[in-house]
Amino acid sequence: MEKFSSKLFDLHTHTNSSDGELTPKELIDLAIESKISGLAITDHDSISALKEAEKYSKKKGIEFIPGVEIRCHEKEFNYPIEIIGLFINPDNSKMKSLIKQLQSNRIIQKFPWKFKTLTNVFTKLLFKGKSSFVPKKCFDMKKIIRTIKDSEGISILAHPGRYMNEMEKIIDKFQIEGGQGIEINYPYVKLLNFKPQTEKKIIEGLKNLALQKNLLVSGGSDFHGNKRGIFLGEKNVSKEDFEKIRSLILQQT
Ligand SMILES: [Zn+2]
Repeated sequence: MEKFSSKLFDLHTHTNSSDGELTPKELIDLAIESKISGLAITDHDSISALKEAEKYSKKKGIEFIPGVEIRCHEKEFNYPIEIIGLFINPDNSKMKSLIKQLQSNRIIQKFPWKFKTLTNVFTKLLFKGKSSFVPKKCFDMKKIIRTIKDSEGISILAHPGRYMNEMEKIIDKFQIEGGQGIEINYPYVKLLNFKPQTEKKIIEGLKNLALQKNLLVSGGSDFHGNKRGIFLGEKNVSKEDFEKIRSLILQQT
């Protein structure tokens, strides 16, 4: 059964290289089955699915967009902020080193006792008997956006509606730091328990902001597998909006 009548792009999905359920190949097969025209894989702090996915997509004849999703922090905001990189080059050395740092940070958080020689601060904390407290090394927005740009990609602010009353300030900061687009369509109702009318309002508001501030429009299902009750492509980007992202990429390179 064909789910969609026109060409749709899902630019926010996860595989089992981060916290998704499907392998890159399974996700691509599902995208083809779901009649999706283009798929971005945007794993958290991971780019390890991208090469295999790119190769497999080519073979299968579906447009593939290599991506990533990275969390950052800004002192002035209460929310951790998530940024999506689209069209990144997974071979870029700056991106690879950023991902390596993010991943080692994750390992430290998971197994603090195993890595006591990694940093002085950390060792001191352990000696003080504070092994449960692990300083979280986070990068700021500027660093993430710059690394995405260095790796030939476009920066998209993920699900701005999540940031509630800080939403507009975060969008402004993101744009000042070089961010280029925002997610409009996102499953707020299913993933964040928003009321349908709230989701509608947020999406309308974001559409206007994107227009006003001349930001690119992105979006996606944040698909992690079938467990969350979301189907691939449920939230998406039109071909027109996708082509605008692509044309900026062509200008950048
Ligand atoms: Zn996500």
